[in-house]
Amino acid sequence: YDDRDGKIWMDGKLVEWREANVHILTHALHYASSVFEGERCYSGKIFKGHEHSLRLIESARLLDMQSPYSAEEIDAAKTAVLEANGFKDAYVRAVMWRGSGEDMGVSARRNPVRMAVAAWEWGSYYGDAKWQGAKLDIAKWKRPSPETIPTAAKAAGLYMICTMSKHAAEEKGCSDALFMDWEGYVAEATGANIFFVKDGEVHTPLADRFLNGITRQTVIQMLKDNGTAVHERRIKPEELDSFQECFLTGTAAEVTPVGQIGDWHFQVGDTTRKIAEEYENLVRA
Ligand code: PMP
Repeated sequence: YDDRDGKIWMDGKLVEWREANVHILTHALHYASSVFEGERCYSGKIFKGHEHSLRLIESARLLDMQSPYSAEEIDAAKTAVLEANGFKDAYVRAVMWRGSGEDMGVSARRNPVRMAVAAWEWGSYYGDAKWQGAKLDIAKWKRPSPETIPTAAKAAGLYMICTMSKHAAEEKGCSDALFMDWEGYVAEATGANIFFVKDGEVHTPLADRFLNGITRQTVIQMLKDNGTAVHERRIKPEELDSFQECFLTGTAAEVTPVGQIGDWHFQVGDTTRKIAEEYENLVRA
């Protein structure tokens, strides 16, 4: 991804794609002092762009990092990148991290907080298989306790086990992995939240221990507005048997039906289809 034409916003200005580099002694590279956002731009407008800018600043704060930019400045940086590259339908990646400082070590008080925004044209996360229902593997790793790591942050350190679990899933022919949390309850996928449907009602894990996705919150509101009951609660893996439908939500995943988790099977049913369609209409509205 590094050798191509285009512009990337870096520390306040647009630079050539190929020149958007950092030094090898960057604190973030050694100690995961990095937070990021994934956003989608539809027909020239980023869906909930400002919410993503605010979440980026909040993720940084949770890692003890003071954002050098306001949410409005971050919004403007994203617009500048999209315009400079001429993108209308794109994925936007903002990242904030601790750079290299006078010393190299765990403490990073004097290291500058840096930021970049890149964007690229990108289609469906799970490809054409979307409507057949994604197949998920059960991850060997567990989502950590909020006492272990700031689980509400969209921070690089939380993705180490996501990459490992996604690789393991792909090796088994699955498109993603589903995590349980440290207590054994259903949590989330490697880059998306999860929902279940039983008799027309929706159940989803309580987001007090993993990223409360912006798409998750949007979908819950849409369901409630439609008069669908939504139960945010602890879900045990044994319960998976009792659900008829399952879907994932996320900026990249949008609303993606799930056909299988391990040995449990789900139908791509009416509730999932309807919410996926409504989400499509909302983001393009
Ligand atoms: N959980 C994880 C681990 C994620 O990476 C994402 C994607 N940002 C989500 C959930 C969904 O969040 P959102 O809807 O805000 O994209």
